[in-house]
Amino acid sequence: MKKTVTRLADGRELIYYDSGDGADSGDGADSGDGADSGDSTGGVVRDAVDRRPLGPVATSSEIRHDPLLGDSVAIASHRQSRTYHPPADECPLCPSRDGRLSEIPDSSYEVVVFENRFPSLAGDSGRCEVVCFTSDHDASFADIGEEQAALVLAAWTDRTADLARLPQVEQVFAFENRGEEIGVTLGHPHGQIYAYPFVTPRTELMLRSARTHRAETGRNLFDDVVARERAEGTRVVLEGEHWVAFVPYAAHWPYEVHLYPKRRVPDLRSLDDAARAEFPRVYLELLKRFDRIFGEAEPPTPYIAAWHQAPFRAEGRDDFALHLELFTVRRTSGKLKFLAGSESGMSVFINDVPPENAAGRLREVASK
Ligand SMILES: [Zn+2]
Repeated sequence: MKKTVTRLADGRELIYYDSGDGADSGDGADSGDGADSGDSTGGVVRDAVDRRPLGPVATSSEIRHDPLLGDSVAIASHRQSRTYHPPADECPLCPSRDGRLSEIPDSSYEVVVFENRFPSLAGDSGRCEVVCFTSDHDASFADIGEEQAALVLAAWTDRTADLARLPQVEQVFAFENRGEEIGVTLGHPHGQIYAYPFVTPRTELMLRSARTHRAETGRNLFDDVVARERAEGTRVVLEGEHWVAFVPYAAHWPYEVHLYPKRRVPDLRSLDDAARAEFPRVYLELLKRFDRIFGEAEPPTPYIAAWHQAPFRAEGRDDFALHLELFTVRRTSGKLKFLAGSESGMSVFINDVPPENAAGRLREVASK
């Protein structure tokens, strides 16, 4: 993997990730020192300059604390003016071509990450980045192929490592929203990375459950959950040599899958090479199955894919298990699951699809 760091016209950072035979990050086996700098085997030179007349990024993000719930809300009024459903020929995530300048100055790219011009979190309040999974505007993650998916995984991992070095960042969340139903305003295949200045409430809850479980049983909660799912088997969706995916016993969403590496690690940085190598095949298969749940005639399944990683400095981080949660808000053909009174008002989910049935359907639509 070759990494090239540059700046956009308004000072935001942009990073190209290119495949190539260069030493992997932190490897440096035959290049001696300086494994991080671009080596001569990558081939690609990324020196295109952003020539857009961009004004400075206007951010007014403010984190407000809710005294009743004890959680935080990012107030980000500048986001109201963000790009909303642009026509395909004005896509800001396509490469710059024929004098049409986008967020990516170069005329091609493999995977690229840049700071969001309309961030929900900025400065002392954290950081928001955009990850373009491919330069192909019409592709979806499920189509990009294993090599490209491996490069995206390398980019997610590298971003986690870089953002961990920022003193204001406590937790890094990489995710993809796919589909207009989820509120996606850009059709180009992309995800986002939020670097929060605090531990998020969901992660806090998981850490607390893990601490309680450790105190009561002496064992790791995540290990026990994964072991139980594998033993029961009824909710397992697919199992590789290094990864296992299942619908959780108490799934909140109609179709929800949790994907765990079998060797527990706290975050993406600690994944071993074997798990890293198998991930693209397993993940692409899951995404393809998601698109088949409701049949070929249905538009692509809207989904959210969310990486859960241990916060960098939290107590008990070593008891946390890196995993990905993938779920859709579609419950049946043409019908969406809305977070209505019980969910939005009281955080009690009502799920119409029994998790065992959801898992059965996800096994049924496996690739032949
Ligand atoms: Zn595009």
